[in-house]
Amino acid sequence: YYNENTTIFFNGQFVKVKEAPVSIYNQTMHYGNGVFEGIRAYDTPDGVRIFKAKEHYERLHYSAEVMHINLQYSVKELELITYQLLELNGLKDAYIRPLVYLGDNMSLTPTNEVHVVIMAWEWGKYLGDKLLRVMLSSFQRPNPKSCFVEAKVVGHYTNSILATTEAKAKGYDEALLTDMNGYVAEGPGANFFIEKDGKLFTAPLGNILAGITRQTVLEIGKELGYEIEEKYFTPDEIFTADSAFFCGTAAEVIGIESVNEYKFPLDWEDSIGAVIQKKYKRRVAHNEYQNVYL
Ligand code: PMP
Repeated sequence: YYNENTTIFFNGQFVKVKEAPVSIYNQTMHYGNGVFEGIRAYDTPDGVRIFKAKEHYERLHYSAEVMHINLQYSVKELELITYQLLELNGLKDAYIRPLVYLGDNMSLTPTNEVHVVIMAWEWGKYLGDKLLRVMLSSFQRPNPKSCFVEAKVVGHYTNSILATTEAKAKGYDEALLTDMNGYVAEGPGANFFIEKDGKLFTAPLGNILAGITRQTVLEIGKELGYEIEEKYFTPDEIFTADSAFFCGTAAEVIGIESVNEYKFPLDWEDSIGAVIQKKYKRRVAHNEYQNVYL
């Protein structure tokens, strides 16, 4: 992720990684109360462009707000800083990781000491390129009555780590989790779609992270004239589906070969997911319909 020359944004300044002091008494490390984002920049014909920077930084603001964290930088400032950071590191295709963490505090009330860090590095597709073998997890996604599931909170990712570790230990590539009612929800770091009889289905908002890639997939699907329904469905419906895919900023759009013992009958190349995957690649790499306001 970094070497001695890597520059990060740290509390108002651009510094080398090793010049960023982090206290071991920070509340985020002890209790998981911090918020973050995962964003990608692409080397487009118009230059380096951060895909949906506004949407990502608006979600960071939402996450901070519900967790009582006072984020001092505006969406626009954060976007500007990120472009500067990419330039300072000579990065074109990059994964960007803003992290907002709290200062020293061993109580269970958030402190006013808020640290804002932005890091970036070159990163291939998070789940690779080959079709995934997925396991239905024994873990459920966090209950929305226990936390704000639509916020990207540091502590929420212990659930993702447990599910991923379980799936990998059993020889699968990735996990798929249900919500607290047993309906299909999402992966540890990506949203999930199935295709059945020429139509796409995905979980509605409420018990999942409102993925920005999920939203882009809905937009692309609509433009291409596909029928897409957001509805609750049980794992049983996966086992009669024609194909399936995950989507997320890090993973982009990635096809699924099987869930548990069930292999999807439709060839990935013939699926709606494959059409959307191609369109998504073009959209991010060619800066189509972007919300750039610099
Ligand atoms: N669900 C979870 C749990 C995630 O961590 C992510 C990655 N942020 C997603 C879905 C996909 O969200 P996005 O498309 O905004 O990256």
